[in-house]
Amino acid sequence: MIAIDYEAARKRMVKGQIAARGITSPRVLDAFLEVPRHLFVPPNQRLFAYQDGPLPIGLGQTISQPYIVAYMTAQLQLQGDEILLEIGTGSGYQAAILGTLAREVHTIERHPRLASAAAQVLKDLGYSNITIHEGDGTHGLPEHAPYQGIMVTAAAPQVPQPLLDQLDEGGRLVIPVGGRGGQLLQLYQRVEGEIIREDLTPVAFVPLIGDHGWS
Ligand code: SAM
Repeated sequence: MIAIDYEAARKRMVKGQIAARGITSPRVLDAFLEVPRHLFVPPNQRLFAYQDGPLPIGLGQTISQPYIVAYMTAQLQLQGDEILLEIGTGSGYQAAILGTLAREVHTIERHPRLASAAAQVLKDLGYSNITIHEGDGTHGLPEHAPYQGIMVTAAAPQVPQPLLDQLDEGGRLVIPVGGRGGQLLQLYQRVEGEIIREDLTPVAFVPLIGDHGWS
């Protein structure tokens, strides 16, 4: 049995895949050095956890490529005091990154099996500022709104209006929008009450299924 040096693999991932592609925020890079990505993937995927791509996590869902997780995280420009909402908990890895960088994270997952697996990993690792909610995240989570940052990690046909409504003044929302074959990552900001949109980069995500997503 070969022992794998996951910490060394993580350092290589941060340097070669994330920093090398232009993510320079020391806080963001430190979060990726800290969170043990291999513990968020199924045991048969651990060997590949620090490779430059997405991985299957069961039920036809994926954990995104590390660089995409980092790129989307950087778009939120977190300072440490934010309350965040994530739609699409999946493995819980992105939530752990966000929980390392912000005060409080609420994350919603529609598959109960993925939600409980992610909750177990996050509990085992001692994250106490992340709450997982089961259900259709396209409605957001009004009871904890407004959010200073919202991240959607599944592809929507358009940005769900309830999420825009729950975005705080100065808040930032990042979401892949487009068809099932490929999407454009979009950034929405609320500035003096108005919503401003910026188109970022092409991406490919699994679909956001729900009342304000795909049917
Ligand atoms: N952020 C995840 C991670 O770090 O592993 C990866 C998310 S995966 C690309 C997309 C997830 O969104 C899937 O787990 C899927 O079940 C979930 N999803 C799709 N539609 C949803 C909805 N309406 N509400 C909540 N979760 C949804």
